[in-house]
Amino acid sequence: MDIKKVVVIGSGTMGSGIAAHLCNANIPVTLLDLKTEISEKARDRIHKSKPPLLIDKSKINNIKVGNISDNFDIIKEADWVVEAVVERIDIKHQIYEKIFKERKDGAIVSSNTSSIPIKILSENLTDTEKKDFCITHFFNPVRYMGLLEIVKNENNDLNKINQLKKFCEVELGKGAIICNDTPGFLGNRVGVYAMQVAMTEAFKMKLSIEEADAVFGRPMGIPKTGVFGLYDLIGIDLMADVLKSFIKELPKSDEFHEVAKEIPLVKRLIETGYTGRKGKGGFYRINKAGTTKVMEAINLETGDYLVAKKIDIKSDNVDLNRLINRKDKYGDYAWSVISKIIKYASSLVPGITKEFNDIDEAMRLGFNWTKGPFEMLEEIGVKNFFDKVNNFKGNEFLKNLSKTKNEDFYGERQKYTNIETLGKVKRTASSVDGNDSAKIYRFNDYNIVEFTTKANALNYDSMDALKKATDKPLIIINESMQFSAGVNLTYTMDFADKNDFKSIEKFIKYFQETCKHLKYSKYPVVSAPSGLTLGGGFEVMVQSNFVASHTNIVVGLVETIVGLIPAGGGCKEMLARWLNTDEAKANPNYASLKVFDIIGYGKTATSPVEAEPMKYLRPEDKKIMNRNSLLEVSKNILMDNKNFKAPEELKFNLPGKSVLEDMYKILDKLYNDKIILDHGVKVARELAYVLSGGDTTIDKTLSEDDLFKLELEAFMRLIETQKTQDRIKYTLGTGKPLIN
Ligand code: NAD
Repeated sequence: MDIKKVVVIGSGTMGSGIAAHLCNANIPVTLLDLKTEISEKARDRIHKSKPPLLIDKSKINNIKVGNISDNFDIIKEADWVVEAVVERIDIKHQIYEKIFKERKDGAIVSSNTSSIPIKILSENLTDTEKKDFCITHFFNPVRYMGLLEIVKNENNDLNKINQLKKFCEVELGKGAIICNDTPGFLGNRVGVYAMQVAMTEAFKMKLSIEEADAVFGRPMGIPKTGVFGLYDLIGIDLMADVLKSFIKELPKSDEFHEVAKEIPLVKRLIETGYTGRKGKGGFYRINKAGTTKVMEAINLETGDYLVAKKIDIKSDNVDLNRLINRKDKYGDYAWSVISKIIKYASSLVPGITKEFNDIDEAMRLGFNWTKGPFEMLEEIGVKNFFDKVNNFKGNEFLKNLSKTKNEDFYGERQKYTNIETLGKVKRTASSVDGNDSAKIYRFNDYNIVEFTTKANALNYDSMDALKKATDKPLIIINESMQFSAGVNLTYTMDFADKNDFKSIEKFIKYFQETCKHLKYSKYPVVSAPSGLTLGGGFEVMVQSNFVASHTNIVVGLVETIVGLIPAGGGCKEMLARWLNTDEAKANPNYASLKVFDIIGYGKTATSPVEAEPMKYLRPEDKKIMNRNSLLEVSKNILMDNKNFKAPEELKFNLPGKSVLEDMYKILDKLYNDKIILDHGVKVARELAYVLSGGDTTIDKTLSEDDLFKLELEAFMRLIETQKTQDRIKYTLGTGKPLIN
């Protein structure tokens, strides 16, 4: 079975996401909806989507659009028809009747339903039709969420299901997990339960929503939106519908009912239009007081909104044992929530799946958790867990484990895929060392460094781990959402607050030295980024010898936004790339001006296709749809470079003053047009100085060290200014830029 053409029916949130993602994989796709709905609307929505659903926006017209009245004939050509219409069984049944009348013999038909059992979806189909029918449950937003649940029925042609799984894995880059036909499948069954536990326990234990989100978030290896933030994001009304469907489908004995009871405050929020971010607000809301916007949080007891408090529970790394053993309300809450999630998830084995491992993977891929419930149990320790838990009636999994007390119960990871993933491989390392900011996994013929800080922000220790790991070929890769959001600004500001600029200088020098070391050490270094690869993260990547990039990368040098300039080699490397163009050979000012434009505006790219024209990525860098494959591709690069020789050091001939004057003119205009303010000019002038080569002329040759020195000096001059410090503090506090 070859999937060469796909038709998606229903062009709403999911249908357009699925169509866009097929377009990302260069698969011809047609999107159909009701005659009254379609037109250019769906395309327009895809085009404007944020974060972008398309890897390459210029391909938008590759998505054909039509309506089910005039264009249904197209079904005849499709190898796969995906139904993504509203969650109504009558409408879905009508559509299947039409599809099966028209479809090509043997073409696959699947539904994106999130809650209707396949038994019911397929009840009107003949046995032959059932052979080709299944559920393909994508998550929103389709490009970014790794999970695809495939639900089969008892008549399915298994060979075909496996081929579909392979197609979705290889071509669409999804983590495709085959599930049983149970309500909510794996991801939502456990994920929604987890959200409900986190919410109901917050009510019971009288935590504020900010406190609950601060615990049920990064400290537990869960995205920082937490539970109330996630509720607002999904839509409080939509969550209520999801709960209703679970209540209807699940047997009365299911623990889910305990956490799905209607909460009066939630009911009132929905009734008054507070349905979350798409409504007037939700648990959080933005209150516009005059010209300023204030984030407010609801008080769970009174229902009143108060200015949201920033809660720091001082737990930057995920350390579950430390978290659940805290002697405060946060520790109590964390234990209560985690233990209930572990108990519930394990009670579902083997009912919803015999592979408990798949539940963890569904949570990782569908909810971006760093660890699923069973890995949480593994981390807490079987003995520790049973020291605190002795009530697990009806839970076969825990009953058995309580007898064996096997601390190594977990076994292999990521069983759903044959790909040699980082998750699988790192468990087989011959030794593991590192520090609080990064782990080094050592193997016979190569090392892996995985950053482990919040957003993988870089500090002295991160650099130390990189440096230590260059005694063999090295792969820099990680499992968390971001490759690295850049240098840790809090760490830098801690020094600045104490006027300890010497320590900042020492750190930046060490950063430069490490990056140089990555580039010129005896062994090849591969960076395998996914997610944010910004600032210092970009500088690590760009000074690695090879790159294997996921297609979901957000890459760029954004330092100017916080009043700094790239000082870990970012200016230097971007100059080198742009100097190596025909235009630069003809015009000595060309490269400096180009890089000035890119770094000056802190431009970012949201895919490799956008990154290449800016030269953040090169044509020879590998671009990979399936994130799970990054390690395999990186290892192949090492294999292909057994006789690696470090590159020659770069040399620079830069124009100095002549281009500087051009840049100043650009700045004068921006200043006069009030696009930048005083400090913007100062930052840009420092950047201009570095990119012009400083006090030089085109006939003088500068070394990489000369460029590093220029970067460092400019960086230090800027970090010492109050206005740069104001920018950093503002961005750290609000996540937004300060224009000063
Ligand atoms: P949506 O409301 O955004 O879009 C549904 C689309 O179906 C609309 O464009 C509507 O015009 C169209 N439609 C309705 N009747 C039709 C018909 N007879 N023929 C053709 N088109 C018709 O819904 P959605 O959120 O995209 O959900 C679609 C499916 O995906 C549902 O089954 C839902 O349960 C499931 N799902 C949704 C999400 C999510 O986060 N939104 C996630 C996973 C699965």
